[in-house]
Amino acid sequence: MNLEDLARDMAATQLLYLDDSYLKESSCSILKVESDDRKSAYVVLDRSIFHPKSGGQPSDQGRISTDTAVFEVRKVMATKGVLIHWGKYVQGTLPIGSAQLKVDWDLRQKCMRRHTAAHLFDHCLATVLGKRVETTDSWVGDESYIGYRGEIPTTGHLQEAEKMENELILKGAKVTSQLMTREQVVAYASDAPNLARLPTGATLRVVTIEGCGGIPCGGTHVRNIREIGQFKLGAAQSLDGSFRTYFGLIL
Ligand SMILES: [Zn+2]
Repeated sequence: MNLEDLARDMAATQLLYLDDSYLKESSCSILKVESDDRKSAYVVLDRSIFHPKSGGQPSDQGRISTDTAVFEVRKVMATKGVLIHWGKYVQGTLPIGSAQLKVDWDLRQKCMRRHTAAHLFDHCLATVLGKRVETTDSWVGDESYIGYRGEIPTTGHLQEAEKMENELILKGAKVTSQLMTREQVVAYASDAPNLARLPTGATLRVVTIEGCGGIPCGGTHVRNIREIGQFKLGAAQSLDGSFRTYFGLIL
């Protein structure tokens, strides 16, 4: 199935998780249903609480249900502002019209905690190294890592950054977000990684961990870094001109 064809002429999906990452359930309208095979389908909604696979966050999972149908959301993909929910029917078939959404909260919460921990580690590593860090990529699935440009730091520096992260988590700090123009972001979040890669002309969401710099990000975050739990660095891997730090969380 070509996702761009599916998204063509559809209005951009309202992304409810941007305003409230703690929204576990919501009503919505089903705008389009395209069968994949007899048991699975692609679904477009007017608004969604499901975060798609993007920005290093795995796709949310959950359910779309009506009075007569239950549909298990397995993957969510974003194309041109339209979210496409792929999944399997448990009961009936989805009609066009109103429905209820429910996100798999355990999975979402793990992603939020790991994703916020990764932002905090950017801050801690930059502080320990005494210079701005540029990220290459990250993933916050069962195996979580953050990629950075440059030479791999010493074990001592990595351990120091890990210690700093755990001290900050214990102390706690609020995580907030606001919308800004690109120019405002560059002025407000001047130490954020990858500012050069920001899209032009767009309104951007900037996430701020109290006491750290702002970060342009469309992901889901915990409200207070205390919710992250204990941060544990795993292996650090040197790549060509960059490196990866693997990590896990302990509640
Ligand atoms: Zn983020």
